[in-house]
Amino acid sequence: MARSRVKSINLATIYRTLKLLTDAGSAVSVHIPGEPPRYEAAHIGHHHHFRCDVCERVYDIAGCAGNLATLVPPGFKVREHEITLFGTCGECAGAKSKA
Ligand SMILES: [Zn+2]
Ligand SMILES: [Zn+2]
Repeated sequence: MARSRVKSINLATIYRTLKLLTDAGSAVSVHIPGEPPRYEAAHIGHHHHFRCDVCERVYDIAGCAGNLATLVPPGFKVREHEITLFGTCGECAGAKSKA
């Protein structure tokens, strides 16, 4: 996105800035298995992601599956969790059924 505004910007600058934003608590990194890290604004709050197999877009999913800390064995402490759902987004599912 930054490159569309400033053509000469390089990736190192972008990642350095993202690191600063992350350290400052303004951005959070999002890890989708098998993909480079993505970043999003921290103010969105706790939520999860859905990755479409077809268009490879990642969508924000509101809400949470619930108290996942109850899944771990006794004595374990959960620090945080990330949930990524995989499948086909509405747009791609619609395009497929029309074709
Ligand atoms: Zn899709
Ligand atoms: Zn959650």
